[in-house]
Amino acid sequence: MQLESLYQEIILDHYRSPHHKGLREPYDAEVRHVNPTCGDEVTLRVTLKDTGAEPAVADISYDALGCSISQASVSVMTDLIIGKPVSEAMEICDEFLALMQSRGEAEPDEDTLGDAIAFAGVSRYPARIKCALLGWMAWKDATAQAAHTGDLS
Ligand code: ZN
Repeated sequence: MQLESLYQEIILDHYRSPHHKGLREPYDAEVRHVNPTCGDEVTLRVTLKDTGAEPAVADISYDALGCSISQASVSVMTDLIIGKPVSEAMEICDEFLALMQSRGEAEPDEDTLGDAIAFAGVSRYPARIKCALLGWMAWKDATAQAAHTGDLS
């Protein structure tokens, strides 16, 4: 199987059966991000938990509509980020951002990015990069807000 069609398959799987979808309670912060150029929208909630050392991501819940890339990307993101300490989650997010800014040049690290490597090809299409980043940027925004509220700051 060609790599491109394998990647296509991963994206379609997440689009058809999104993971962790639906808005859940309780949550520490909620954000709504839109990508007007494509019409993608995501409402995303983050729940952090105090693990003693540093906060970890207890849950990410969301409701989203839009193109297959934006929908699949937020689903993949929740798989990678839920359960991780916030600092490690931020590193994964930064690595995905770097991949998206690579113009198709980067060799994605599957150990870190898992199914998110399927979006490597998207970095060659500037108009679609915002679709792929929408959920990730919403998560980063919500987490920054959550970290500044409650007793986790
Ligand atoms: Zn889109």
